[in-house]
Amino acid sequence: MAELNLVLLGPPGSGKGTQGERLNEDLRLPYYATGDILRAAVRDETQLGKTAKEFMDRGDLVPDDVIIGVIAERIEGSEAADGFILDGFPRTLPQAEALDDELEKVDRGLTAALLIEVPEEEVVRRLGGRRTCEKEGHVFHVEFNPPEEEGVCDIDGSPLVIRDDDKPEVIRHRLETYHDKTEPLVSYYEEKGLLRQIDGAQPPDVVGERIRALLSTLRMEEDI
Ligand SMILES: [Zn+2]
Repeated sequence: MAELNLVLLGPPGSGKGTQGERLNEDLRLPYYATGDILRAAVRDETQLGKTAKEFMDRGDLVPDDVIIGVIAERIEGSEAADGFILDGFPRTLPQAEALDDELEKVDRGLTAALLIEVPEEEVVRRLGGRRTCEKEGHVFHVEFNPPEEEGVCDIDGSPLVIRDDDKPEVIRHRLETYHDKTEPLVSYYEEKGLLRQIDGAQPPDVVGERIRALLSTLRMEEDI
């Protein structure tokens, strides 16, 4: 069977994490979200994990070459022999190029970059409607998952607040950052013929079905 080496791209609020976890269950391929990988490398005290920890402990961003090293450790490991799903990496063009170099070293390459597209208003609607319980962080949504009593957590009765991350002006800023950094990546994968766009404005089950259909087509093409 052909390998499925996948990169997930999409704005905050696109449901990328949800789809990544589904793919992980359906395809039994490891799902690597950058944040989780870094935490695991630190926990397992690998050399790279130790280096990453020094930056994290100081509250600094982990530099590209360290992240690339941590990712390379994973995708070159035996658990990723049949493929992998990357989320949150690459985030910039140099990271995308470094990923290609790493894969090339082991005679592999990406199968596809899946771009989950969601219009900006929909992202604002999804993220802007989130309400988080002050005490335990339980998450509700004014439209999709409203609490029984407005502004009060169903579970522990604490007040529900809008996290800073979910404030409209912050959401706009996160989207701008995403566009600035990710658009060059989209063109990069498009030029390589690896980009596949998915309409992420649909409900998660529909999006999941479309991704599955797309991947079986890709697999057939690879097997030919
Ligand atoms: Zn709560």
